[in-house]
Amino acid sequence: MKQTLIVGNWKMNLNTQQASLLVKRLDDRIAIHRDIEVVLAPSMLVLQPLSLQIDRRKFRLAAQNAFYKDEGAYTGEVSFTMLRDLAHYVIVGHSERRIYFHETLEVVRDKVQAAIRNNISPILCIGENKHERAANETKRVIHDQLTTALSNLTAEEVEKVVVAYEPVWAISTFGGEIAKPDDVQKVFKMIRGHISELYGSKASKAARLLYGGSVNADTAAGYLAIDGCGGALVGNASLNYHQFSGIVEAAYRLKHKAKA
Ligand code: PEP
Repeated sequence: MKQTLIVGNWKMNLNTQQASLLVKRLDDRIAIHRDIEVVLAPSMLVLQPLSLQIDRRKFRLAAQNAFYKDEGAYTGEVSFTMLRDLAHYVIVGHSERRIYFHETLEVVRDKVQAAIRNNISPILCIGENKHERAANETKRVIHDQLTTALSNLTAEEVEKVVVAYEPVWAISTFGGEIAKPDDVQKVFKMIRGHISELYGSKASKAARLLYGGSVNADTAAGYLAIDGCGGALVGNASLNYHQFSGIVEAAYRLKHKAKA
């Protein structure tokens, strides 16, 4: 049984004390669910103290970024190697990094490869912006981002990559338009089709696909119910414990409704 993956990307918010308080509140509200994997992505500075605080039966940690070299003279950077025992996942290719920090397709590819090399699952974010959407270029953008990002991996390694479809226009930072679950489903199909063409149907079926873009406790169920949706990547709403625990609850209810 595949677990539903709910990832909270706290972005550049919450110092150690604030993060600790949020985890305490989440801990009070979220039960241990075997079939839901709840992942918190705090700032780099907060990963270590949170790793001592979290109940590992309930929460896992992700980093929001890392550098693709394992060590060396790269002032200010943190490598995947350094995160090995700390983070299960690293978010790679988030649109804020592509846009504000000019991360190219090749940089994202090298980060995905570095994650796999260090036994960390990358959460690879892909998605078109509003201009590309208006020009009907979603398929091309998804194709280009996926092809390059996965190009140094074997089919078995591709199975370890989590792909988060995050249309840039739907992310709260960039406008937060609400995507329709039917449209997200079409893009999921595109992604699986593309992985299948490149790496075969086993890798395509195994791929965990998340949706991200202004997901909150009210809208989560609509996305999580999409056929083949493996979970959600949540930004803004993950900073609010009512919202985030509500999203986990929605994921749990959906799983158990499906079983009944
Ligand atoms: C994100 O940062 O990945 C994201 C989806 O943000 P938000 O939920 O705030 O749109």
